[in-house]
Amino acid sequence: MTAGIYVHVPFCFSKCRYCGFVSFPYDKERPLLYREAVLREMTDAAGKSGGVCFGSVYFGGGTPTCLDREDLVFLLRRVGDLFCVLPGAETTVEANPETVDGAYLHSLLQAGVNRISLGAQTFDPSLLDLLGRQAGPAVVRRAVRAARQAGFTNLSMDLIFGLPGQTPFVHRQTLEQALDLEPEHISAYGLELIAGTPLARAVAEGSLAPCGEEEALAMYEETIAVLTRAGYRHYEISNFARPGYECRHNLIYWENGEYLGFGPAAASHWRGGRRQNADSMEAYLRGEGIAEEGADRSREMTDTILMGLRLLEGLDLAAFADRFGVSLESSYGQTLAWVRRQGLAEVKGERLRLTARGLPLANEVFRAFV
Ligand code: SF4
Repeated sequence: MTAGIYVHVPFCFSKCRYCGFVSFPYDKERPLLYREAVLREMTDAAGKSGGVCFGSVYFGGGTPTCLDREDLVFLLRRVGDLFCVLPGAETTVEANPETVDGAYLHSLLQAGVNRISLGAQTFDPSLLDLLGRQAGPAVVRRAVRAARQAGFTNLSMDLIFGLPGQTPFVHRQTLEQALDLEPEHISAYGLELIAGTPLARAVAEGSLAPCGEEEALAMYEETIAVLTRAGYRHYEISNFARPGYECRHNLIYWENGEYLGFGPAAASHWRGGRRQNADSMEAYLRGEGIAEEGADRSREMTDTILMGLRLLEGLDLAAFADRFGVSLESSYGQTLAWVRRQGLAEVKGERLRLTARGLPLANEVFRAFV
């Protein structure tokens, strides 16, 4: 497994009503300060990365494509100058459909980006309004067309289900409209109501009825059925890919591999240690508020289990024993027996994986291992 580089671009033109990500309103000034700070952070890390070569680069957010095209291209090129990025590395940029046109996308492709991840969320206009999303279905379609015309052959689309007022039928229509656009990869997440967001407040105050658990489960099952029937491989709890188009960057997370993260709120996992940058832009710009933890075998074991179980193929038990010098059975025997007894997970070949019953109850399984 190769290592990855993540760059968090924490700006959005407006805040979605469900958003719990670290993102700030875009203005003209802060992106310049951000650019200098992120460059300093990358230069510092490059000196310490010990000649490791990276197999993926991921610009996420926020909305990376809020940045002026020249600024984003500048940062992409600096990653390539500062680090050893392997030939053929996967380089992803997240984009909101309304922020990109043909010229912008063409510049990204020229700068080595070979995977674009578009946030569509739903194709239902009233639900898009409810979420406070800026791009309607027509804008999403236009962005996909522009990406194809620019030459992108690896396109991912984000969807959300379990929205207030959404029915399985409405979600199914979204899935069908997403499939019409033939993305190579689809991420479909159940809505999480995050405390402090306008959507969570509206639900807490009773002015908005949340989606029921059963309906959300029906939408999840529908997602799996529709996408697998259409030829996508369900390879992670919330992720589906055409064969060969699994997200290599996220696979590094799910295999608890090594990555360096830059920008506010970005996390790194390097040489067994973890580092988390401050969420606050001001603290980040001052180089303050960094939380660091040294290598910790027990945390690494738990993280490896929790992340590995997210993959449909499951946790590689032989690799686990190799990595930690003990078998999962000997260190988590009781928990293992419990999740198997409950029918939530099963051992198939050399892997421990969630069962069909365990998939929607993954959090329960994770809690058992912590
Ligand atoms: S585009 Fe993404 S990061 Fe930005 S506000 Fe919306 S959900 Fe949050």
